[in-house]
Amino acid sequence: MAKISINIATGSLQQEEIIVGIDLGTTNSLVAIIHPETKQAVALKEHDSSSLVPSVVHFGASGEVTVGEAARQFLVTEPENTIFSAKRLMGRSYADVQANQAFFSYSIIDDDSDTLVKVKAGDRFYSPVELSAYILKELKHRAEHIVKTAVNKAVITVPAYFNDAQRQATRDAGKLAGLDVLRIVNEPTAASLAYGIGLDKNDHKTIAVYDLGGGTFDISILRINSGIVDVCATNGDTYLGGDDFDRAIVRHWMEEHGIAEASLKTDRELSQRLRLQAEAAKRILSTDDVFAAVSGGYALCLSRVQFDALVRPLVQRTIDCCGRALADAGVDKAEIDSVVMVGGSTRVPLVNEMVSAFFGRPLNNSLNPDEVVALGAAIQADILAGNNKDFLLLDITPLSLGVETMGGLMDVLIPRNSRIPTKAGRQYTTQKDGQSGMVIGVFQGERDMVKDNRRLASFTLTGIPAMPAGLPKVDISFLINADGILSVTARELRSGVEQSIEVKPQYGLTDAEVEQMLQDSITHAKEDIATRALVEVRTEGEQLLQTTEQFILKNGSLLTAAEINDTAAAMQALQLALTMTDKDLIHRKIEALNECSRPYAERVMDTAISMAMKGSKV
Ligand code: AMP
Repeated sequence: MAKISINIATGSLQQEEIIVGIDLGTTNSLVAIIHPETKQAVALKEHDSSSLVPSVVHFGASGEVTVGEAARQFLVTEPENTIFSAKRLMGRSYADVQANQAFFSYSIIDDDSDTLVKVKAGDRFYSPVELSAYILKELKHRAEHIVKTAVNKAVITVPAYFNDAQRQATRDAGKLAGLDVLRIVNEPTAASLAYGIGLDKNDHKTIAVYDLGGGTFDISILRINSGIVDVCATNGDTYLGGDDFDRAIVRHWMEEHGIAEASLKTDRELSQRLRLQAEAAKRILSTDDVFAAVSGGYALCLSRVQFDALVRPLVQRTIDCCGRALADAGVDKAEIDSVVMVGGSTRVPLVNEMVSAFFGRPLNNSLNPDEVVALGAAIQADILAGNNKDFLLLDITPLSLGVETMGGLMDVLIPRNSRIPTKAGRQYTTQKDGQSGMVIGVFQGERDMVKDNRRLASFTLTGIPAMPAGLPKVDISFLINADGILSVTARELRSGVEQSIEVKPQYGLTDAEVEQMLQDSITHAKEDIATRALVEVRTEGEQLLQTTEQFILKNGSLLTAAEINDTAAAMQALQLALTMTDKDLIHRKIEALNECSRPYAERVMDTAISMAMKGSKV
């Protein structure tokens, strides 16, 4: 077992260990380290191959999993079992991605049991967390193979706009891949670090980071003051990137050769083939003036001039986003000290031209735009490892802090490795009608169930006025001051009742115990994630049973005998499923009960409304 040593007082890590920086991208991912001799950040690659690992996972007929370049080959031959752009699905519900379903050549499943989407390949379902974990595992293996030592720790980057759920999903993916994720860093912050911006303690700068990748565009305005980075504004388009350039080229060729939209829908192979040729054309046109190839019986040609005309409106959309980001940040173009270019699509000459013209200044584009985020992540990892002595290392929390929620789940308010002082808050509510007290259990640790974590304190917020379940709003806030003291305050917002407690999170924990807790979270990652999903669906099932029961009690007279019988049967089936551990079964029974009650619930609602309109009360 690898030794993990964290100095609890400073949050710094033991020096000799390798901590890798990982850019987990939509199109490509890569891993970087600080070279032990040159002390420069380098992206890891095998011999002459590319440092980029395509973020593509292929599932073979007999269950074998292929990742990266080898998997990319299957995009043409087996699009339904070849998953790309899984990052787009991270921490997302089906409702979030539904409108863009046509974008994916594989099936996206609406599975509310995880409240997150799943992807179907072969006869199995995969969560975006699992898919990303396959990519991270591949990067971990690649790094281990190249540096010839075990790699267990990483800094992983995410877009600046990622919300808590998406950041947590990224952490979970790292955990599932056997990586201890020391920090989640914003991509624009990492990119700036790669250019050395922010490394000087006296730096006071305003930076624009323009990131045009394969599928997404992000513009971030950062303010860097004495090593502290603030994201002032982000803007962008989650469905705009190099892939759109490819699609514009495909459309152009389709028009030219009279290929109908419908024939591409039925002939997926032709569709993928054109897509790959379009990408090849775009790459060639970043340096050459013309592209010509023959594929699938079609002569495919394109000039730089034609290409520029095709993509100009798309690039203009990115420029419009830049304008909005500046306005949101309240920053004038003239105040921008550097413009950092990130993402493979910034190799397109027209992109550089238009961005440089907009900001009226030269660009920071000397580093490989595909690698710059990973390089920055490696620099951040090196700072965390305590190797970069010049850099101020701020205190961080060694373990996550959170509260117990329904079903004994750990709800993290302050993730581990957060810089202190820090504060965080979230709203909770009651589970029972008329509940007047709420027990607040404060826990520390990385496991998904509080029983596996360390209980720091617990106290009861009393005096909540009687209200139906779900109505009280209890705000729980965590504040860690500069001395590492955590104070937890619970306040019911409607009545103003408040209670608080102070704890010393580090107190009594030895280095070895912290190490053990971190290791456990990695060892149990898979079962923890599964348990969380089961607890969540069970809670949902129990709540549905309660509300259905109350509904029938109140409105039974408006229902037919058959409706009551069917509902009772569906409730019984759900009750039975809740005693078992098959979350998909519970999910199906929830759906079935919902299906059964939907028609009369709507009818009762309509009756209530029409009676209310007549002035009577139901
Ligand atoms: P990323 O998501 O940052 O990995 O960016 C990948 C995108 O960059 C894909 O759309 C690629 O087609 C595009 N790309 C990579 N190299 C080039 C190039 N030489 N010229 C134009 N686009 C490129």
